[in-house]
Amino acid sequence: MTALAADYFAVPDPADPGRITYWRRTSGTLKPWPAKARYGPVLYRTDLPAGLDAQQRQQWAADWYRENAHPWHDRVRAAIDSAPDECAARFAAFTTRCRQCGKLLHDPASKAYGVGPDCRDGWPEAVLALAAEAVGRAHAAVPQPGDHPAGAVAGAAPTTNH
Ligand SMILES: [Zn+2]
Repeated sequence: MTALAADYFAVPDPADPGRITYWRRTSGTLKPWPAKARYGPVLYRTDLPAGLDAQQRQQWAADWYRENAHPWHDRVRAAIDSAPDECAARFAAFTTRCRQCGKLLHDPASKAYGVGPDCRDGWPEAVLALAAEAVGRAHAAVPQPGDHPAGAVAGAAPTTNH
């Protein structure tokens, strides 16, 4: 399958596959989407053992992240690297946003491709067909309409539209 460029991805939480996490790749770095979202294991101050001095706390936290958060993030990256089209189509299907630029999709064709008219300009028919097929698969994979996560992310919308 042709690997299409994409900047936005949706990936099931490696530790909780019933939950989807959303990502934006900028300059090769994956960041949670929307910007204020936090996914994966998080260490809270109250989780730190009592009686450590500042340097020990720092070391304890660094070890915790290396053992818990880093492997989780590695699994997210691996999921995207192994199936970028699938993860990009899932993002578009769940958020009705362009998988390339993140802007809201309006016309039915754009929603079916998961890509806005500007971003898919020049794409060959075969590539568009693959994009639509991937969106269809993402839609079919939604377990229940009630679990559709679009409502959870609807509040943090860029102001520009396709
Ligand atoms: Zn776009």
